[in-house]
Amino acid sequence: REIKGKLPKYPGLERWVLLEKMGDGAFSNVYRARDGTGELGEVAIKVVRKYEMNSSQGVNHLHPDVKKQPKTVERTNILKEVQIMRQLDHPGIVKLIDFSESRQFYYIVLELCSGGELFHQIVRLTYFSENLSRHVITQVARSLEYLHEERGVVHRDIKPENLLFEPIPFIPTKNPKPRAPGDEDKVDEGEFIPGIGSGGIGRVKIADFGLSKVVWDSQTTTPCGTVGYTAPEIVKDERYSKSVDMWALGCVLYTLLCGFPPFYDESIQVLTEKVARGQYTFLSPWWDDISKSAQDLVSHLLTVDPEKRYTIKEFMRHPWIRETDEETTPAA
Ligand code: ADP
Ligand code: MG
Repeated sequence: REIKGKLPKYPGLERWVLLEKMGDGAFSNVYRARDGTGELGEVAIKVVRKYEMNSSQGVNHLHPDVKKQPKTVERTNILKEVQIMRQLDHPGIVKLIDFSESRQFYYIVLELCSGGELFHQIVRLTYFSENLSRHVITQVARSLEYLHEERGVVHRDIKPENLLFEPIPFIPTKNPKPRAPGDEDKVDEGEFIPGIGSGGIGRVKIADFGLSKVVWDSQTTTPCGTVGYTAPEIVKDERYSKSVDMWALGCVLYTLLCGFPPFYDESIQVLTEKVARGQYTFLSPWWDDISKSAQDLVSHLLTVDPEKRYTIKEFMRHPWIRETDEETTPAA
């Protein structure tokens, strides 16, 4: 299924055969590719342009005063993203395979998540059942726990577009539910295997460390600097930055359960106000049939005061997370 002639050739990327474009952003294009040497299988390659053309923004480029000035994409930011990814090794986090660069581009070779974005699954299914939502959010939370507690890394850009997944082969449960005609390709919540953390939707993986930050040294597992001399704002900053991911986790959980985000407004100003005040509701009728326990968990994550917001440990202990669905738990 190689589309010849349509995909660009990048200098220095000769090893890889580009197969298709999977995503594109302002700075980067992501391709599915296969290893021409046959050593590795398929991968994802994030190609980041080193220069951004000013002319790409707005209508200003029509004005003759606006020269096509190349603006350097912060080299250090890409190197930081790669540097952080190098230190990570977890089944719930997209693995870095290789990094290289040419005169114009950076190439980040990544483990391929063939399922694509969680975002597209929400669009496809409208919303997730509570069981499927729990299955997904628990996986994200375990990865965050690894990042926060074992690597001292805060992600800072958790959202459905940056949560990818790898589908696993279908393994039927004991009593699969019959599916209605037309619903054959729907994800059946009875098809996942609790405990293994895979199934229905598969293995969920965190991607895009472009905004992530190390809050403490991974070698010494202590806050940056000499412990006894660390200023309160530094200690607090570490805690606060972790709580940023917990807020985002709450937004993702809310969205999974009902199919739309907790905060939205056409005006950026109004939206910013709403977020600042933590102004959201469990909108009827969409939330009418969602359990009070799920709502309770969401509200502990979407808490404006970061001191009161749930930490990853509190999240893991919440009754809704601990619930298991007897029906979907296969006999050992
Ligand atoms: P950006 O900084 O431009 O948001 P991302 O790293 O988030 O870059 O990648 C952009 C998009 O490319 C993702 O939202 C996803 O759709 C796709 N993508 C990125 N990495 C992978 C991967 N490893 N496997 C599959 N798709 C990926
Ligand atoms: Mg992204």
